[in-house]
Amino acid sequence: MGNSQDARLRSSPGVWEETLLELIARTSTDLPRDVEAALLDARSAEDQGNGRDALDAMIANAGLARERRQPICQDTGTILFWVEIPPGRLAQSVFREAAERAIVRATRDGLLRQNCVDTLTNRNTGNNLGSGSPVIHWAEREGTTAEVWLLLKGGGCENVGIQYSLPDPALDAGRDLEGVRRCALDAVFQAQGRGCSPGVLGVALGGDRATGYAESKRLLLRRIGERSAVPELAELERRLLAEANSLGIGPMGFGGRTTLLDVFVGCRARLPASYFISVSYMCWAYRRRQVKASLDGTPIEWS
Ligand code: SF4
Repeated sequence: MGNSQDARLRSSPGVWEETLLELIARTSTDLPRDVEAALLDARSAEDQGNGRDALDAMIANAGLARERRQPICQDTGTILFWVEIPPGRLAQSVFREAAERAIVRATRDGLLRQNCVDTLTNRNTGNNLGSGSPVIHWAEREGTTAEVWLLLKGGGCENVGIQYSLPDPALDAGRDLEGVRRCALDAVFQAQGRGCSPGVLGVALGGDRATGYAESKRLLLRRIGERSAVPELAELERRLLAEANSLGIGPMGFGGRTTLLDVFVGCRARLPASYFISVSYMCWAYRRRQVKASLDGTPIEWS
């Protein structure tokens, strides 16, 4: 490796640290506009009652959090990064070190709750760092810039995620899209208002148990209303959204027309012997942000 490339790989943890701190701040405190718009639409659709009151509280909460730059919810969630970088242009260790420093500062500043517990000792690590925390998914991309997504996923909605193995005789669900539909609706029905509805479903077909769940979370990087490029999956998304919202569960389970804000379906290859359906549920506090940056970490575009 030449000296200049070596320097590029090691470059600028400080710049990355500042950019990632800002990414955490935006994600924790500033609900994406597409999510806020979906909550406003849901509020318009609800009759007077507890469901509409719950939506009013969520919308007011989101506005206050943005104005005061404070967390949207007390549970600031699992810290999940997806990083796409051109091959050989940014050392993963540089990014991880910067991310860890940014997380420690964000925790100290109250942008993140002390939210990471050592599973064996039950001791809170106090700074959100621990074995497997944060989670960082890596991928290569063409070009000369890096793209980083951050998802903060709360525990309540994580608890209602579920995985099915088809065929599932209890649901009369076979290895086809009708079987997938039955599983996804069962997941929503079982969740009821838990998971802080109205939520968003990521539904991954195929993969193994681990990659199916990983894909179901990656699907949550889409924006509200963004349909699958695969026509039959897009049709399934539309149908599931309409059917889930006809169950009457409503915001926070209070009853009403909006149980989900959207459904995203994706597909991975599988073994002949396996057909997993992995469902991740994201709560209304759908904290998902992205930054496009130069390889030294200088931000180019926020979304
Ligand atoms: S599920 Fe979401 S909205 Fe509910 S407490 Fe957890 S983070 Fe907050």
